[in-house]
This record gives sequence, structure tokens and C-alpha cells, in this order.
Amino acid sequence: MQNNKTKDDYKKELPPELYHIAFEKGTEPAFNGKLYDNHEKGVYKCAVCGDELFSSEAKFDSGTGWPSFFDPLSQEKIETKPDESLGDMRTEVLCKKCQAHLGHVFDDGPEPTGKRYCINSISLNFRKL
Ligand code: FE
Repeated sequence: MQNNKTKDDYKKELPPELYHIAFEKGTEPAFNGKLYDNHEKGVYKCAVCGDELFSSEAKFDSGTGWPSFFDPLSQEKIETKPDESLGDMRTEVLCKKCQAHLGHVFDDGPEPTGKRYCINSISLNFRKL
């Protein structure tokens, strides 16, 4: 972590639903979040640390019920890790700055990257441009 906060600090500060997803690697129910159907122009920031992670320019309708992007603002903004928690090999996506769990990335996205970053709404705050 690049800051000095511990998981206990976050547990005290964050709403329980956000703490659960960000630091216990939870998943919000599909079609239930605030941002999957958002089509406004703007930037999506980490709900924990505020770092800018995704642009509306890279958002697409995946039909999954979670906000989906074909690219982060920069690969410097995120970190990926192997995740075998459901038996299948998936790739976890984390905020590089604060290490909050964001969601997963899959290889069935649209051009130009072919990637689908499937991110929990609750892990993001939208700022309209
Ligand atoms: Fe963050």
C-alpha cells in the first residue's frame, strides 16, 4: 500500500458494503449498482482513494449488469492478480494506489483491446465532465 492505512482503518471509515467489496473481495448483485447503465461523459474514480481509474470513453454495454470498460485510463492506475476463488481462473482488478478490489477483467471485450473490465459500481464514484 502506498498510504499508511490498515484494513482496520478502512473498516472504520468506509460504508460496510464498500468495505466488503473493496477489502473482502465481494461482488455486488448484477443490475443493482448505480453505474452499470450510466451513459454520461465523465471519469470514474476509485470509491476508496479517489484516484481516477476509468473514462466514459472506454465504457460499453456488456449486458452483464456491471459497469464494463475496455480499458483503464492507464495501466499504471490498476493492478491485476490471478484469482482462483471460484475454481475457474479469473483475473482480479485492484486499484493500484489503495489496493481496493474493483472487479475482474476478461478477454471477451470489444475492440480495440478485446478486454472487459467488469467493475463493481460501488467501487467507483462518477464525476461528470
Ligand atoms: Fe483506490
